[in-house]
Amino acid sequence: MRIAYLGVLAAVCATVCGAATAPASSTAGSSAMADNPFTRPSTLPFELPPFDRIHDGDYRPAFEAGMAEQLKQVAAIAKNPAPATFENTIVALEKSGQLRTRVEIVFSNLNSCNTDDEMQKIDTEMSPRLTAQDDAILLDPALWARVDGLYQKRATLHLNPESLQLLSRYHTLFVRAGAQLQPQQQARLKEMNKELSTLSTRFKQNVLKATTDGAVVVDSVAELDGLSPEQIGAAAQAAEGRGLKGKWLIALQNTTNQPVLTQLTNRSLRERIYKASIGRGLSVPTDNTVVIAQLVKLRAERAALLGYESHAAYQLEDESAGNPAAVRDMISKVAPAALARAKEEAADIQALIDAQAKAAGKPSFTLQPWDWFFYSEQVRKARYSFDQAKVAPYFELDHVLKDGVFYAAHQLYGLSFKERKDLPVYQQDVRVFEVSDANGKPLALFIADYFARDNKQGGAWMSPYVQQSRLLHQKPVVANHLNIPKPQPGQPVLLTFDEVTTMFHEFGHAVHGMLSNVEYPLLSGTAVPRDFVEYPSQYNEMWAREPSVVEHYARNYQTGAPMPPELLAKVLAATTFNQGYATTEYISAALLDQAWHQITVAQAPRAQDVLGFEERALKASGLDYAPVPPRYHSTYFSHVFEGGYSAGYYAYLWSEVLARDTGQWMHGHGGLTRANGDYLREHILSRGRSEDPQVLFRNFYGRGPDIEPLLEYRGLAKASGG
Ligand SMILES: [Zn+2]
Repeated sequence: MRIAYLGVLAAVCATVCGAATAPASSTAGSSAMADNPFTRPSTLPFELPPFDRIHDGDYRPAFEAGMAEQLKQVAAIAKNPAPATFENTIVALEKSGQLRTRVEIVFSNLNSCNTDDEMQKIDTEMSPRLTAQDDAILLDPALWARVDGLYQKRATLHLNPESLQLLSRYHTLFVRAGAQLQPQQQARLKEMNKELSTLSTRFKQNVLKATTDGAVVVDSVAELDGLSPEQIGAAAQAAEGRGLKGKWLIALQNTTNQPVLTQLTNRSLRERIYKASIGRGLSVPTDNTVVIAQLVKLRAERAALLGYESHAAYQLEDESAGNPAAVRDMISKVAPAALARAKEEAADIQALIDAQAKAAGKPSFTLQPWDWFFYSEQVRKARYSFDQAKVAPYFELDHVLKDGVFYAAHQLYGLSFKERKDLPVYQQDVRVFEVSDANGKPLALFIADYFARDNKQGGAWMSPYVQQSRLLHQKPVVANHLNIPKPQPGQPVLLTFDEVTTMFHEFGHAVHGMLSNVEYPLLSGTAVPRDFVEYPSQYNEMWAREPSVVEHYARNYQTGAPMPPELLAKVLAATTFNQGYATTEYISAALLDQAWHQITVAQAPRAQDVLGFEERALKASGLDYAPVPPRYHSTYFSHVFEGGYSAGYYAYLWSEVLARDTGQWMHGHGGLTRANGDYLREHILSRGRSEDPQVLFRNFYGRGPDIEPLLEYRGLAKASGG
């Protein structure tokens, strides 16, 4: 699940960035901007971007004008002859660059969820320039002198806690950007940042193209045995969409494992699909081994320049975790239980493969990664004896959304939702809801973009369009993005319980954004460390399986009948099934990420050895267990080579510890109640980063986090068993 890191980026980019090296182009003139949709704040409710008026041609002039405006504003702050004050420096920075924020946030969102060739071109052009502008601001000596001066005398400034936190955040951002380095070192740093940004963009585009191109073409419908008629119809439609009428197309999802492998009876097709998945980014024209080799070396070099042992050490210093040792410690507590369970699961599967071979009078074979889900599904059915096809009619998207996701938020926080069909959207399937608070007052807009598209990044994530801030008088506009396959016209949208859980998860991020109640944009909503940002989302998953919530949403879309209790019990019991695999594939990827980023410059491998490095890292971790490949192999591991998760993929597990601990607290205090919701809202969900995250959690819970509820939730707590 990809997440809402944009919150952090947007806040940082919006407020601190803007720089000097990029020449402002002449197209930034006022005439070009007169009727540009980004020129002024949107006049739509909640400043919703006017999607119907935004065209690709608007981005470049808006970026130019926004960057120029930001530079001017920041220069005025830096050169202000008056002595530095919190107001004329820190608050002024918070107010600067709003035009750039408006265009950047919309562009970045739409480039992820509704891109086209032109936008990708703009992305390639703009991202290094935006990075350069950010560097220039954070490395401006006059500005640094003001920020540092204020920070050194912070105890005498009589700031309230949130303002003090803001000042500290700015100081940290400047230091981490290299403000304390010598000019020559700073010049090198700027160069490296620009290069890194270009490499990330290349990595992203390679993954997108490799994933699209990697789709598997099937010539004969017989090979698709196991898929439903709807899925076969969709595969035919997908093939037709690419000019392959009469054939079928199986599109790839982000992860190593492909969900469709669960259903396909044809073993050689399963192998083809699996190999297409892990083959992504390995060769021209989408070769990411070259990109990775350059990226990790440059990151290590940058860390060294800034005085850190490795990129991981640099990254983790600014997280709740603090350092690589803390991450290793947490992972090492979970890994043995996960791997032991995965091996038990594999033994169950191998036994089934052997029994079926024997019954058919054929030789057996050794379990391969492309077999895992096909057979584990049968083990699951035998053990929990329910069929996804029987469950699906109870998980219809609209019911799940309104009677499940929204319902839980209403019970907990008093929120109400009303669809706004009058507001513009960027794609016809996208829906907008106005969210009212318990007192009936307008709180936020929620954008739901649930369906997969060719021009949308894979996975699921949340991102804000407008960030809550009292300083800027802004209420939040947040969006959830999923990749649910769109059924043929007229067919209902029936979900798996996994997809239901993902909806709750992403909505947890949305709630974190919507309930934000802070003064400053830099500290707003989901602008928290990466290893804290998944806490509200993973916590919110618990309501997907809470009996009183399930009873409310899991109703047959045709008859309205509630899900039979015994079926429901099986679905819930099955949630701990295969957690050995799930946890191991995740931890393998997290360790891979750490391995890539705990190296020094000298240890960085060459492109030809990228795969070898990966292999050795997995071996060294003891997690190189062939039937359970990492959730992402390096060449399509977008979280860490393109997104904001470098050295941070562990963050999901770290956050989940907090989330499960909170779940236990909720159940200990009466479960789904307004009192519980309001308590969490007051201590965590409304607070953004207005306080140190570890302090927030301690204030909420009265102690530090405990790992046991997580092991229990994943069914890993017991020594063995299903
Ligand atoms: Zn998430």
